[in-house]
Amino acid sequence: MNPNQTAEDESHPSITAASRRIQRLSLHLTPLPPSQPSPQLNMLTCAKAANKLEVDKVSLSTYMRGENRDIQEKIVEFFESRPDLQTPVGVSMNEHRELCMRQLVALVREAKIKPFRYVVDDPAKYFAITEAIGSIDVSLGIKLGVQFSLWGGSVLNLGTEKHRDKYFDGIDNLDYPGCFAMTELHHGSNVQGLQTTATFDPVTDEFIIDTPNDGAIKWWIGNAAVHGKFATVFAKLILPTHDSRKVSDMGVHAFIVPIRDLNTLQTLPGIEIHDCGHKVGLNGVDNGALRFRSVRIPRDNLLNRFGDVSQDGKYTSSLPTINKRFAAMLGELVGGRVGLAYASVGFLKISVTIAVRYSLLRQQFGPPEQPEVSILDYQSQQHKLMPMLASSYAFHFATQYLVQKYSEMKKMHDEQLVADVHALSAGLKAYVTSYTAKSLSTCREACGGHGYAAVNRFGSLRNDHDIFQTFEGDNTVLMQQVAADLLKQYKDKFQGGTLSVTWNYLRESMNTYLSQPNPIIARWESADHLRDPKFQLDAFRYRTSRLLQSVAARLRKHSKTLGTFGAWNRCLNHLLLLAESHTESVILAKFIEAVHNCPDASSRAALKLVCDLYALDHIWNDIGTYRNVDYVAPNKAK
Ligand SMILES: Cc1cc2nc3c(=O)[nH]c(=O)nc-3n(C[C@H](O)[C@H](O)[C@H](O)COP(=O)(O)OP(=O)(O)OC[C@H]3O[C@@H](n4cnc5c(N)ncnc54)[C@H](O)[C@@H]3O)c2cc1C
Repeated sequence: MNPNQTAEDESHPSITAASRRIQRLSLHLTPLPPSQPSPQLNMLTCAKAANKLEVDKVSLSTYMRGENRDIQEKIVEFFESRPDLQTPVGVSMNEHRELCMRQLVALVREAKIKPFRYVVDDPAKYFAITEAIGSIDVSLGIKLGVQFSLWGGSVLNLGTEKHRDKYFDGIDNLDYPGCFAMTELHHGSNVQGLQTTATFDPVTDEFIIDTPNDGAIKWWIGNAAVHGKFATVFAKLILPTHDSRKVSDMGVHAFIVPIRDLNTLQTLPGIEIHDCGHKVGLNGVDNGALRFRSVRIPRDNLLNRFGDVSQDGKYTSSLPTINKRFAAMLGELVGGRVGLAYASVGFLKISVTIAVRYSLLRQQFGPPEQPEVSILDYQSQQHKLMPMLASSYAFHFATQYLVQKYSEMKKMHDEQLVADVHALSAGLKAYVTSYTAKSLSTCREACGGHGYAAVNRFGSLRNDHDIFQTFEGDNTVLMQQVAADLLKQYKDKFQGGTLSVTWNYLRESMNTYLSQPNPIIARWESADHLRDPKFQLDAFRYRTSRLLQSVAARLRKHSKTLGTFGAWNRCLNHLLLLAESHTESVILAKFIEAVHNCPDASSRAALKLVCDLYALDHIWNDIGTYRNVDYVAPNKAK
């Protein structure tokens, strides 16, 4: 008999069962310290010793979290020690906005963690900070990202020394809260269509910022509604000319525009600020709309790294065309996208951890006359959660790789690397955030009614994370950039060019694709073969190559009658599938590499198991394709 059980409980089995459930639920809400053995857990069927893989958790954690583990722990400890800085359930929008600002100020001024210092010099540390901060409150993570990555990042990456000297300290210590004002009411994804203008006035040596119509109002701008004092405003640079056109449009450039008085916080003359109001999530971030009426700023406020204007109105740039300058500017802004992909994996980890832990403890039904079983023992529950768990590991390593490439790019400024990171960040941001968004709903559902309690976080995580699919580049638009890049590489290959490192695998797998699948290998079905990383990766890459070849042929055919734009649209779903398949190939390759490089044998064995699950689950999900082309024979598919 349970020592806590009373005689009364014994005579009322339903009370016993209820109290057992309550105990287990409370375990989930207040997890035991790791050192304390849990008698309840030992009872559960799926935790039977025979099925357990012994893993050295410290080694695994050290391997996965690397050198930035300390700063992440420091952040979590700081917020845990400060109940006044924790976000209460049901907080109002206005309180949440102020709380987020207080949290950010406390992080920088009290905990002395200064994220801005790492934005350029140590991006891996910066992203580790944002991951930990996002786990405290997603709004806080985004507020931090707006301040340091978007507003601060635009000053550092698009400006020059004079801007760094003037603004660095204020951004770093939060004296200068700022915004990143790109999106307009009528133009979000299509950034080149922006209509705000910055017209140079050589007489006063100033730019005049104007919102020419309602559609050009800057919309959704984070930090604008309440706290921002500056904004990096993206606008078409207009120069006066002496020809009949009178002016020349030099394309979209970035300008620093003060929007509020530094001391009184009053809105400055010529600027109108509106509040975007209550949102589906992220209500700790004050998004606002900005309209400019002939706002004059000094010429120096042009962020002039890629293009400059002299006092007499002459334009200079090391880049020859508007398109090249635009691409260079956007290339420098991928940091935000890298950060979102990285943070999204963090939310996936949190939600899968909650759902798996709960599923181990929660018991429903069981064989007659026997204790109820853990819900994780149900095949359906495993099917929902285990591939998701595997994906969170896979995405962890893939986004670490992305951060590593991004850090290299920041140091080397190599043109090919910039293009590579652009495509890689687009693919991973889109793929990971879409996956996490779906998973958050699945995890909530996997936890039944208790998953719906606000305190268990699925609701806020789901609502806060949802927009990750849209900002920093809409996912559907980003995936098209990946597909376009693949097609460019494909074309280059047939013109004898070299493939960039990330896509290099295509050379071999395209050759495999062009020949028939090997009928003998197609029948192999042993566990060793199915768990062979070469088989898994070949299968992923074969699929990508097949999609690439077939969509290229379709585009060629349709462009004759529909033109390039029409043909692209006719093949759009095919293109999106190609981009998805390619991104999955990259993710698997990085996962396999990470398993291989893991120094601790027990961790390596555990990671290998999870990696196999990731790979085989994907192959299984698309088994129809593999069967259709006899890449996998019927016996193997079974
Ligand atoms: C909470 C929040 C915070 C934000 N913060 C900022 C900020 O601080 N600064 C800032 O500048 N912006 C910010 N934004 C704006 C954000 O970056 C844009 O919403 C985003 O870029 C998408 O643009 P859009 O809303 O105009 O969508 P649209 O571009 O209109 O897209 C709408 C739909 O059309 C589809 N679509 C569009 N083009 C294509 C195409 N070529 N092919 C196929 N489908 C297509 C998309 O997939 C999408 O489903 C924020 C937005 C939100 C909601």
